[in-house]
Amino acid sequence: MINRLSSFNKNIFCFDANYVRRNFASIHFINQNNKLLVIDSGTNHSAKQFLAALETLNISPESVEWIVLTHVHLDHAGGAGLLMKQCPNAQLAVHPRGARHMVNPEKLWMAVVDVYGLKEAYEQYGKLIPVDENRIKALADEEIIKFQNRRLRIIDAPGHANHHIVIFDEESESFFTGDAFGISYPELTSNKGEFIFISSTPTQFEPTKLASTVKRIMEAKPQNCFLTHFSKITNIERNGHELLKQIDEYVMIAQQSTRNGENQQDRIKKNLFELLYRKLSTTNLNISRQEFGNLLDLDLSLNAQGLKYWNIKFNKQV
Ligand SMILES: [Zn+2]
Repeated sequence: MINRLSSFNKNIFCFDANYVRRNFASIHFINQNNKLLVIDSGTNHSAKQFLAALETLNISPESVEWIVLTHVHLDHAGGAGLLMKQCPNAQLAVHPRGARHMVNPEKLWMAVVDVYGLKEAYEQYGKLIPVDENRIKALADEEIIKFQNRRLRIIDAPGHANHHIVIFDEESESFFTGDAFGISYPELTSNKGEFIFISSTPTQFEPTKLASTVKRIMEAKPQNCFLTHFSKITNIERNGHELLKQIDEYVMIAQQSTRNGENQQDRIKKNLFELLYRKLSTTNLNISRQEFGNLLDLDLSLNAQGLKYWNIKFNKQV
């Protein structure tokens, strides 16, 4: 059974990738003339959801023409190999820096085993399946994917990761932004609109590059952005300014984190929590510190880890 297939204007669909918890990670696709272009694959555990979504629409896996990966972090790309197997006519589109990791996922896998351990890595992502390199198209900045009668423009989008692209769909005037335009969970939408925050996961977070990416997305004045975590947001101007402000706030927190003897990562995490909870407190939502902490626990841990890593890499602060 598929959990929640949502549909939006211009034949855009979204379903839950079945990762971590409900409403955590999504997969989007465009259905044009019963042909599909999929954005992000989720993990190997998302494949079942994907097949169920196709069945709901009465579309066969053979109709998938494109699987486009915003970047090769495993919650976005871990299931790409399996999906490519299930969709024999699909081409995989990915940033030039991500392509070789799809042909040989060993390095991605080792990185994840490093963080989670072997057992947990399997449970989270399943075994990574290599993709035939003849089926991969590496996409450069400003390249266009022609998909049926639609055009999708690729934008190089570093800052969250060096292997990140965002995809502008001219038909819907919308971006598919992966993790480059923040995270926004529907549970936190309030009278003030969407609640958005930066994702600074390790190991390639770079604030200056991310700010340029956010600005570039804003300059295109899109109607919507479709985020992997989690789906559609609309007020791009307001959300973009908030993200730009937060990049500075994150940097400040990271740089101030080495002042006393406390564990640096824990301190960053605590300060990120306080920053974001303070923002939430100005809305009409009634969410306790405990609930907020639970909802954002994984994101805050990863963000703190990424900021600590950035500190060491660029500021030589240990
Ligand atoms: Zn990511």
